[in-house]
Amino acid sequence: MARNTGSVCRMCRREGTKLFLKGEKCFSQKCALTKRPTPPGQHGQARQRKMSEYGTQLREKQKARRAYGMLETQFHRTYEKALNMKGVSGENLLQLLERRLDNVVYRAGLAASRAQARQLVNHGHFLVNGTRVDIPSYTVKQGDVITVGAASKEMDLFKAAREGNARIMPKWLNCVHDELKATVESLPARSDVDFALQENMIIEYYSR
Ligand code: SF4
Repeated sequence: MARNTGSVCRMCRREGTKLFLKGEKCFSQKCALTKRPTPPGQHGQARQRKMSEYGTQLREKQKARRAYGMLETQFHRTYEKALNMKGVSGENLLQLLERRLDNVVYRAGLAASRAQARQLVNHGHFLVNGTRVDIPSYTVKQGDVITVGAASKEMDLFKAAREGNARIMPKWLNCVHDELKATVESLPARSDVDFALQENMIIEYYSR
């Protein structure tokens, strides 16, 4: 299955919430959802109607999958992993999604968006505890230290990251921007997700 190559802002308008797919633009007044908060398409506004339970569950699943930029098979695999963990499955799922290396790079402010973070990880620009890791889905653990490889540190791309940005950093990460370094201080909590999501709906969707 191919990745969606259309307008990513349409996805936010479709889901009715910011999914933060376009870097700094998402934090500015230029955000398409701020300017046009209706579903995309000619009849977007007219299409707003009460959704069935199944429809709501599907939309929550799609929202999460799109925000983290995952294909359906990858997302379903993460759901199955969450089910097999101790604790509340929905919270496990959110924690596994937040602990992906590409998400950590984005949340730490080392990339402008999750899509850019995924590409940078794929290209081998990051080390975890001193070892190069080029797998975006790699699951970080408490205490892991994520750094930018020595050869990549002078890339223009990391200049903005080094200066820090206006984004609010999650409490579970300790970011030292001038060193391009992030430490996983603790595992992410439910409240650390940066967009509104009903994770129980996702569990219900797959349990049908
Ligand atoms: Fe586009 Fe970002 Fe706004 Fe979403 S949050 S509509 S991706 S600018």
